[in-house]
Amino acid sequence: MVYLVGAGPGDPGLLTVKAREILESADVVIYDRLAGEEILNYVPENAEKIYVGKSAGKHTLKQEEINNLLVEKGKSGKNIVRLKGGDPFVFGRGGEEGISLAENNLPFEIVPGVTSAVAVPAYAGIPVTHRGIAVSFSVITGHEDPTKPESGIRWEKLATATDTLIFLMGIANLPKITEKLIENGRSGKTPAAVIRRGTTPAQEVFVTTLEKAAAEVEERKITPPAIFVVGETVNLRESLKFFDTKILFGKRILVTRARTQASELSRKLKNLGAAVIEFPAIKIAPPSDNFKFADAAIKNIRSYDRIIFTSANGVEKFFDRLKFAGLDTRVLGKAKIAAIGSATAKKLENFGIIADNVPAEFKAENLAEELKNSVAGEKILLARAEVARNILPEELEKHGAKVDVVPFYKTEPADENSGEILTQINSGKIDLVTFTSSSTVENFVKACGRDCLKNLKTAAIGPITAETLKKFEVEPDIVAEEYTIDGLVAAIQNFQAG
Ligand code: SAH
Repeated sequence: MVYLVGAGPGDPGLLTVKAREILESADVVIYDRLAGEEILNYVPENAEKIYVGKSAGKHTLKQEEINNLLVEKGKSGKNIVRLKGGDPFVFGRGGEEGISLAENNLPFEIVPGVTSAVAVPAYAGIPVTHRGIAVSFSVITGHEDPTKPESGIRWEKLATATDTLIFLMGIANLPKITEKLIENGRSGKTPAAVIRRGTTPAQEVFVTTLEKAAAEVEERKITPPAIFVVGETVNLRESLKFFDTKILFGKRILVTRARTQASELSRKLKNLGAAVIEFPAIKIAPPSDNFKFADAAIKNIRSYDRIIFTSANGVEKFFDRLKFAGLDTRVLGKAKIAAIGSATAKKLENFGIIADNVPAEFKAENLAEELKNSVAGEKILLARAEVARNILPEELEKHGAKVDVVPFYKTEPADENSGEILTQINSGKIDLVTFTSSSTVENFVKACGRDCLKNLKTAAIGPITAETLKKFEVEPDIVAEEYTIDGLVAAIQNFQAG
């Protein structure tokens, strides 16, 4: 099956559920330049990805070549996805591709997308219709030179026939488009807006009038992709804008975490309007002893009076090894369980365990304080990362416990190329970098060098991470008061609000 799929206008959240499902089971994806590249993350890693869009310096496939490619791939019997920005049938040439497939008796389906023609004005707070103000709208190509005799646009009718006019691909031709509209009876005073890279963190909106638009676009050097909207509903932006007014709108924030964990923090920052760049400073790897101590501890798991988890990763790896040994939670029996941090406790709940102790403040010191009167004579398993501070085991041993410190994982610098991000940092394009543990700081410094931190505003999840930054002579601009992802996000918001 060949699917002609709309990818939406840019915000990856505006992809349809059906499009996502189809992408997840694609064998081949043939795609254009998309405003939201993240959408390609849904495509299975082993699928073939073929870029056929325009980009500087690269050869562009002609439409006929794309049609032929689709037919050729379509004959393979695999799941082929032709992914296009917005909707495939709104200036997307989806019709031509469908016809070419039909002529070759190949099965295809159309998956409509959220078109930029409606969604981009919406993200600028401009409705294309509004009761009492606009009862109709037109979507028009701005790509055709209006002065050419073969232009298919009937300007004398178009200029006044509908209330809202939405031009796609019209930025280069704006002087001629506006002239034609005015010449054919649309008032030069009609409100108009130009919206560039709508629905993305780079969205720019400026409001003007039909007669001034062309000169202003020229003056501001606005480049595509942008939409030109003409009509009285443009005035509603003042009341309806919601997207480019978000507290972190337009801020570029670097999130340094192991890739598997980045999503929650990234999602929350994006919801507040930030452009998030994920820098997977660390990744989770097996401990250096390849689970020798971990497996030995699991073998003797029934002998422990108490098990302490210091991170969600530790919990996950512990249960991995338990399963690997052919065991399940029943072996934990009467053992007391402690968790440092609410994320750790939450992860335990996923495995059906409610921790007996979760220190009110998320630091090892607090847990030691909380447990000091009850651990005498206990045998304790501390399941944690290979490299971590020794305060907790030392304190517990002082109070008469025997503590086995067992590594269940280690964090490593991710080997991904940090060059591109480094360039962005050095050219001042990053507004803030977040650190969610000491090892993210250490690995970031390893990857980028010390000096790189000097040019950046930094946010730390708590005092320990802040201390590590200070070790590198960086005074963090933001330190969360509650040492959780939500606490960090709240602190960033407060900082931004001043
Ligand atoms: N099929 C697409 C349109 C393709 S034509 C759709 O339904 O949205 C490409 C034009 O769409 C661009 O020149 C620009 O005018 C408009 N466009 C697409 N995405 C846009 C965005 N995020 N912001 C502003 N304009 C956009």
